[in-house]
Amino acid sequence: MARNKYDCLKCPAYCCSYAHIPVTDKDITRLAKHFDVSWEKARKKFIKKGDKESPLVLRHQDDEHFDTICQFLDLDTRNCTIYEARPEICRTFPTQTRCGYYDFLMFEREVQDDDEWIATTS
Ligand code: SF4
Ligand code: SF4
Repeated sequence: MARNKYDCLKCPAYCCSYAHIPVTDKDITRLAKHFDVSWEKARKKFIKKGDKESPLVLRHQDDEHFDTICQFLDLDTRNCTIYEARPEICRTFPTQTRCGYYDFLMFEREVQDDDEWIATTS
């Protein structure tokens, strides 16, 4: 199996800043189990309405780098706080051995000559 050419631990979590991170009924069941709450409560507390393409999406919180980001991201460590219970989409992204965001980040850090640089996409 090919090795991934990205390191999420060095990344400020671009993928978690998507406005619409889709969740399924099964994802909500997993969240409900993780937080030991009913499915309905998990749906209300953690999920909001999205759009036609993604009717149910993760709620966001304010973020200094990307305006808003998934509410489950730890803003200090930039790590997922529900890693074991994260939705399916978070488990599969970026679906290949390279992550475009990570390549972008590494390029910008090299240009800036700063290993901590957080490049924004807008
Ligand atoms: S944007 Fe790419 S490198 Fe960054 S956390 Fe997401 S998958 Fe990992
Ligand atoms: S659930 Fe975790 S991995 Fe998925 S978007 Fe939120 S913080 Fe990122």
